[in-house]
Amino acid sequence: MDYEKLANLLFPKVDKTPEFWEQKYPSRNLPKGAEVTRYAPSPTGFVHFGALFTSLVNCLQAKKTDGVFFLRIEDTDKKREIENGTKIITKTLSDFDIKFDEGETFGGNYGPYTQSEREEIYKTFAKKMVQEGKAYPCFCSTEELDEIRAKQEQNKEDIGYYGKYAKCRNLSFEEIEKNIKQGKTFVLRFKCPYTNQDKVTTYDVIRGERLIPQNQNDVVILKSNGLPPYNFAHVVDDHLMHTTFVIRADEWLPSLSEHLQLFEALGFTAPKYAHISPIQKFDENGNRRKLSKRKDPESDMRYFAEQGFPNGAVKDYIMTLINSDFEEWRAKNPTSSILDFDFDIKKMSASGSLFDIVKLTDISKNFVSHLTNKQVYDLALDWAKEFDKSFFASLTEQKEYWLAILNIDREIAKPRKDISHMAEIKEIYSYMFEENFDGNVSFPENFKKQDVEKILKLYPNFFNEADDQQTWFSRIKDLSGEIGFAREVKEFKQNPEAFGGHCGDVSTIIRVALTGRTQTPNLYDICKLLGKDKIKSRFEKVLKNL
Ligand code: GLU
Repeated sequence: MDYEKLANLLFPKVDKTPEFWEQKYPSRNLPKGAEVTRYAPSPTGFVHFGALFTSLVNCLQAKKTDGVFFLRIEDTDKKREIENGTKIITKTLSDFDIKFDEGETFGGNYGPYTQSEREEIYKTFAKKMVQEGKAYPCFCSTEELDEIRAKQEQNKEDIGYYGKYAKCRNLSFEEIEKNIKQGKTFVLRFKCPYTNQDKVTTYDVIRGERLIPQNQNDVVILKSNGLPPYNFAHVVDDHLMHTTFVIRADEWLPSLSEHLQLFEALGFTAPKYAHISPIQKFDENGNRRKLSKRKDPESDMRYFAEQGFPNGAVKDYIMTLINSDFEEWRAKNPTSSILDFDFDIKKMSASGSLFDIVKLTDISKNFVSHLTNKQVYDLALDWAKEFDKSFFASLTEQKEYWLAILNIDREIAKPRKDISHMAEIKEIYSYMFEENFDGNVSFPENFKKQDVEKILKLYPNFFNEADDQQTWFSRIKDLSGEIGFAREVKEFKQNPEAFGGHCGDVSTIIRVALTGRTQTPNLYDICKLLGKDKIKSRFEKVLKNL
């Protein structure tokens, strides 16, 4: 067969040579050890938790080595594309402060960074494959391919286009020419030189060395629409973009041999690979399963935005899944940039990380506790603007009040850790607003009704808005003494029979009567913020309901 003639028959319009593209995209001038990594999503508009995880690993690997991290949009499968799909993805990544050095909207000398705009490049290399007798056109219809598959299933043989099943592999030039003249469409297939009896040693940076069977299939490298599927596109792109390290989901692991064969056939050096296992969670029966797009709302990064988890907290949580020693580092370096952490891809788990919302919630509470009231307020405002109109109105109309509420037990040695996400703030502090207070509260059972009554009637006389915390509490002690309660807890413990209770009990009754809760942030601050009039009116409501 005259492959040159065949190549010109199949690609009459391709006038560029591989050398042209090689010159256009010369080697990157990077320091030794610098890694070029990429995030290569399809523009589906959906960012899976696992995808953000993978993009962060790629970003860290590039940043750690003073390399390059770029964004490539893999849109050769038009069925999966949605409008604004790319925008949603770049917005999500930028919300998480995952920064690209190159990409369609970021600049760079190795573009276009969108695969559908690289058709000419792929065709040049596809033509080269034909010229070298490494690829051939296949005219098989879907029915024919189904038939092959059915036969293989029946004979319990490997599924695929290979050996005696690869009908179009041996078509003569004349047959091919005839088909083309008849207007038949074709796909281009790789003429695989191996059988799956052959073995290949692959190296994965996370999983180590593995001996796997060679791919034996004459896989499609150009579809009938002229665009390549993932396999060929990523090989050509990662070569011309000088990617040194492909870090991707492990769904690609089974086709690694196929990808390596394509690098070899094109005469390219393959990059290093690392395959990341899917994020898992425990199902109802305590078994591990993949975090599923269909079943788990938290598989979609939008979930965290809708709940109002701070991006920094979610990112910190992802970091703990990436490298388990991150948490300890974060405890010592609460405000440092993640880039200062000594990330190590080799320390990643090969078996996959477990998603745990409780852990995320704890990390987030800790994260929020280190913010200022203004920072929390701004986060809440941003969140409410999009997701909770009435909360937004409350935050804007009562800004100072909210700032004061959010300041309770903050910026102290052990700040309060009660807020994990913005959607819960309104409920956490609902008692600070009169419209939520109906006076229907229940006191712990050990308190006598007449004591409660006495305290609620007398306390307003003991409360003075100008008091500092110490004076405020000494007045609660005074009230305790007046109603036959111990002024000090210690005193009470020494002689419990002699008292109706102690000063702590009096605080509890005041707390419950004001908030309906036995646990709240600092009661002094709450009283001060509510002020004497509201304290009085709340107590009156409670007394009526007693
Ligand atoms: N477009 C592929 C995907 O979304 C990219 C895989 C890769 O990183 O090479 O799975």
